[in-house]
Amino acid sequence: MTNPDPRIRHQIWIDNAWEDAADGRTFATVNPATEEEIASVARAGEADVDRAVRSARTAFESTGWQRLSGRKRADLLWRLAGLLEENADELARLETMDNGKPWFESRKVDLSMVVGTFRYFAGLADKVHGETIPVSGPFLNYTRAEPVGVVGCIVPWNFPLNLASWKVAPALACGNAVVLKPAEQTPLTALLLGELAAEAGFPPGILNVVPGYGDEAGSALVRHPQVDKISFTGSPATGRIVQAEAARALTPVTLELGGKSPNVIFADAELKSAIRGAATGIFYGKGEVCAAGSRVLVERSVYDQVVEGLAGRAQKMTVGDPMGDGTRLGALVSRTQQERVLGYIEAGRKEGARLVCGGERQTVDGKGFFVEATVFADVEPDMTIAREEIFGPVVAVIPFEDEADALAKANDTAYGLAAGVWTRDVGRAHRFAAGLRAGTVWVNTYNQYDPAAPFGGVGESGYGRDLGMTAALRNYTRTKDVWVALD
Ligand code: ADP
Repeated sequence: MTNPDPRIRHQIWIDNAWEDAADGRTFATVNPATEEEIASVARAGEADVDRAVRSARTAFESTGWQRLSGRKRADLLWRLAGLLEENADELARLETMDNGKPWFESRKVDLSMVVGTFRYFAGLADKVHGETIPVSGPFLNYTRAEPVGVVGCIVPWNFPLNLASWKVAPALACGNAVVLKPAEQTPLTALLLGELAAEAGFPPGILNVVPGYGDEAGSALVRHPQVDKISFTGSPATGRIVQAEAARALTPVTLELGGKSPNVIFADAELKSAIRGAATGIFYGKGEVCAAGSRVLVERSVYDQVVEGLAGRAQKMTVGDPMGDGTRLGALVSRTQQERVLGYIEAGRKEGARLVCGGERQTVDGKGFFVEATVFADVEPDMTIAREEIFGPVVAVIPFEDEADALAKANDTAYGLAAGVWTRDVGRAHRFAAGLRAGTVWVNTYNQYDPAAPFGGVGESGYGRDLGMTAALRNYTRTKDVWVALD
């Protein structure tokens, strides 16, 4: 197995130990900015996932874990957060190498959120409780909020550690055992998370990590009869498969899928901020963000001004070495993704949208899967680039006439993950927020996240929520109701 950097974890993490795949297979994880193989990673198959799930089941059932108080789980999560913070440079380095995202994003943004998420859910761990309920008759009635058991977490490649933390931290806080399946493009930070959890004191089997392909390791996890809950973030196409496969064992699923989020700018908005928000809304994370504001809707009277401002910002977002401090536009995650995005750009051109800037593939030192920040104007709502999720730094700017037209256009999508609205009219802001079909609405801002704020979608964007206390309890505990005769 090639593993040029001895610090890189590249095996399957089960029972707080490293293992090769049962059949010895591996896959390469590639740095999308240099096109070089970073490491060859154990490719978990059905047998490995079975081992991981059984180990998690045993750990979950053990009296040690069952008797551990919420306070102790809080301690463990808090300690893990501290270790993630201590290792933030290394984790961010791995994330940037694996995903191609700029160091600024992986180190300053993602790792802060990861640490914050573990701290937030550490705070929940000793507050998971039921309620007493007044019932008729001589009975005491109360509920217990019990962990569901073994939780399978499947995450994509765009925010590998961050999205893992959104699921792993609340699942552990609620007293479950977890099997985490990172995306095949970006397995490295999840593997280090497993090792750090052991260092923090989590017992063997409470967090296992199975790197591998979706239709092998992912599918095996979804179909495993001893998995009690699947929490999935990924594409709608895969979400459908996951839900169908989980249905066989009636395993509940939470799905956070894609988006085609509208970012709506009214003429009365503070335009400088709105243009900045529209640019970061789409170009942050190379546009490989489920909540990317990929449709910018602009009131006709300020349309040209916004297009020009957005293009000006796009042209300043030059690609660069993702490890460079100043780089704000990294490499797309893979050649496949680069080709996909370029295909959408071609579709935009062919269908008659006006390419204002960008549109080309780029390299840094002759290598890498980079694509320029791209702005299309005069986009018609029925064009492919206005309807399909591109998952790249490509924005469709669409004019609208008035509030009713804006709302109709904003909601004219099968997705419903997030939306932005820019206006100084407070009444309109709330009216619009209420009318939008989306799981999150940002008013005069974009891309805000907090572990306390629930996040998820409607329609093709999935259902269920990550983050927040209510969602954590709903996802990762189940209610048992107890009747006690009093006479
Ligand atoms: P993308 O198309 O952006 O790669 P996917 O939804 O396919 O997004 O991937 C998200 C996660 O789902 C990844 O960890 C991937 O390995 C996993 N996955 C893909 N196919 C399946 C499947 N059939 N069952 C379970 N997980 C899967």
